[in-house]
Amino acid sequence: MTELNPLFETLAAEFEARHGSRPAGFWSAPGRVNLIGEHTDYNEGFVLPFAIDRRAVVALAGAAPDAPAFARVSSTFSDQIVELALADLAPDALADWSAYPLGVAWALAEHVSATSGTEARRALPGFALHIHSDVPIGAGLSSSAAIECAAAVALNEFWQLGLTPAELARVGQIAENQAVGAPTGIMDQSASMLGRIDAAVFLDCRSMNAESVPLGLDAEDLEILVIDTRVSHDHATGGYAERRASCERAAAEMGVGSLRELSVADLPRLQQRLDDETFRRARHVITENDRVEQAVRLLETEGPLAIGALLDASHVSMRDDFEISVPELDLAVEVAQEGGAVGARMTGGGFGGSALALIRRPQRPALEAAVLEAFVARGYRRPDLFVVQPSAGATMKGDLDD
Ligand code: ADP
Ligand code: MG
Repeated sequence: MTELNPLFETLAAEFEARHGSRPAGFWSAPGRVNLIGEHTDYNEGFVLPFAIDRRAVVALAGAAPDAPAFARVSSTFSDQIVELALADLAPDALADWSAYPLGVAWALAEHVSATSGTEARRALPGFALHIHSDVPIGAGLSSSAAIECAAAVALNEFWQLGLTPAELARVGQIAENQAVGAPTGIMDQSASMLGRIDAAVFLDCRSMNAESVPLGLDAEDLEILVIDTRVSHDHATGGYAERRASCERAAAEMGVGSLRELSVADLPRLQQRLDDETFRRARHVITENDRVEQAVRLLETEGPLAIGALLDASHVSMRDDFEISVPELDLAVEVAQEGGAVGARMTGGGFGGSALALIRRPQRPALEAAVLEAFVARGYRRPDLFVVQPSAGATMKGDLDD
């Protein structure tokens, strides 16, 4: 936690200005980049994300004595302070950015009701919570999971609930699905909760088994460059929900509970039974699951240089079969590949957001220049380029003098 110390001081001052007291502690959770395995999580498949070195930090204290049963949330992201009686926490009562942290509080309170009864829920003390995050919003790096998971670890400790990191990931997902209304899977919160330094989280979204897979980037002098196209996406509406519905339709028509139950060998049968579009949606998911498993095997046996072709193939599948790319993402990937990247693909839910390129460290200046130049030439908005380090997941309480 030592590297966060100067931030704690800033945060304590921000907290005090908004809530009138000193925070009792600080908790943090990172954003994530998905190395490979896109739109597979809600199909009960495989994903391989890693937590990044950009985090949401939450400062929290018990509620003021004159409003003991209230939740009060603030963020550097907004001037608004949102206050609500704990008894009134419900998905319908929440809106905008505060639905993320208050949705987490609601989901945890529901958990308390379910496990210990409504009396225990009523006894939960109020709190004030302030968010300070450097995860860029809407860039496909899951700023949403970062704030959910930071709020979840903070409240888990404040309310002494003793939930495990995997259970807190699920709480974050429930908040996002039900309080925010975005039908996203468990990947983002799992990466944010379970990430480790220089490793990815290999998650089986059916069994929920999670394994840490060392990436070994430093040993090969590799790094992961993120190209944020700054084309914004919106998961709560539109394409994401439509893709999810196509996958569910494909599974139902094939008589299986989820696309996870099908393999590459089943594809000819799918092609006969499904319309062309639904078939291509399903093919993306089925081949992507296969690529994730291959990537894990290759990382374990040969190291990160071996996964480049899988990253490239994943992009083609998202562009042509799942149709969730946009011209800016395609351009970023093409230029990275032409510039000698080991592999490149769009990452995140799609329709905007970021691409990632696995590159050799010395390549970076030339590659960045080539991407910027190509975007100018096409008249696209200037993208944001930055390197991300596979980092540790959510942290428990840190004190000012840690
Ligand atoms: P992303 O890909 O970044 O997760 P989402 O649309 O899922 O994009 O989530 C972004 C939303 O999360 C923002 O619009 C805002 O409501 C909320 N959010 C992200 N970061 C913060 C923050 N620091 N403070 C408050 N709300 C935030
Ligand atoms: Mg999100």
